[in-house]
Amino acid sequence: MKSSILIIYTGGTIGMKEDPQDGTLKPFDFSQIKDEVPELNKFDVRIDSYTFDPLIDSSDMEPSIWVQLAQLISERYEDYDGFVVLHGTDTMAYSASALSFMLEGLTKPVIFTGSQLPIGVPRTDGKENLISAVEIAAAKDHEGHARVPEVCIFFDSKLLRGNRSTKYSAEAFNAFASPNCPPLAEAGINIRYNTDIIRKPVYWDTMLRVQTQLDTRVAILKVHPGMTPQVMRAVVADPQTRACIIETYGSGNALSKPWFLDLVKQASDEGKILLNVTQCKAGTVNMDLYATGASLKNVGVLSGADITTEAALGKLFSLMGRSENDKWVKTMLEKDLCGEISK
Ligand code: ASP
Repeated sequence: MKSSILIIYTGGTIGMKEDPQDGTLKPFDFSQIKDEVPELNKFDVRIDSYTFDPLIDSSDMEPSIWVQLAQLISERYEDYDGFVVLHGTDTMAYSASALSFMLEGLTKPVIFTGSQLPIGVPRTDGKENLISAVEIAAAKDHEGHARVPEVCIFFDSKLLRGNRSTKYSAEAFNAFASPNCPPLAEAGINIRYNTDIIRKPVYWDTMLRVQTQLDTRVAILKVHPGMTPQVMRAVVADPQTRACIIETYGSGNALSKPWFLDLVKQASDEGKILLNVTQCKAGTVNMDLYATGASLKNVGVLSGADITTEAALGKLFSLMGRSENDKWVKTMLEKDLCGEISK
């Protein structure tokens, strides 16, 4: 049977074209997507589209919009074999990460893509990204199951796990990287799937469960030379902060100054959830390596292992939204829930 795909256009550069009147870039009517990208007619796939109203520059992305997106996927889940989410590149890695935690029991592909140049300009990367994303979202294995039942980002010939991705270039077509996890697929003459690392559900008839409660009381503290106790206190000690991602140096190291460790200990004693995530793009936190890392561990900071900040944020929003029990959240934080950390 013919596959069916829903393209969800949330906003961003990809859906723009030049207005012939004044030369400015404006969003085009996505219901006419096949006029803009006639190559889509060549697939033996039914393609429908849904456009967000209003369209969102992804710099304005909000957790409430993630909930809207997740609910839309859930409402249309039975009607389609896969979903392609067109999204601005700026926060695409945050959205793909969050959705990976919010869509529990996923058995169908949810492929985010976008572009650096609008689809309506001659050198656009948007067409190739969209066409390959549709092909991947529609792909089935010989048993008729989705080849990639995961939330992913497709960009510039690579399919990356959503919660491992990060935007790393503001200019190159190759805008996303996933340094701690190899691509799930690569598009050349053929699309080569890296089947060994693609996650599969235990049961293909699992029901999708959508999480709609997110707890956003998370702060991010990036440690840096010259950081002051005042700034740190404002971020970590704020009563609205239930959890804090501490972005540390290298393998999870931070200042050894007593005021810094005192503030971390104080926050930990107050029951705040503190997660150590490295500022490095590749590699992992290991708090046993240096004394500065070990002192964080001693005052109750948890290891984020090789998680990205984007995934750490989505994971905390999701876990905290599920439970007020901090002990449970802390236990789950160190577990690999959907491929976001290496075991
Ligand atoms: N600011 C735009 C956005 O993220 C850039 C893009 O689409 O790539 O929505």
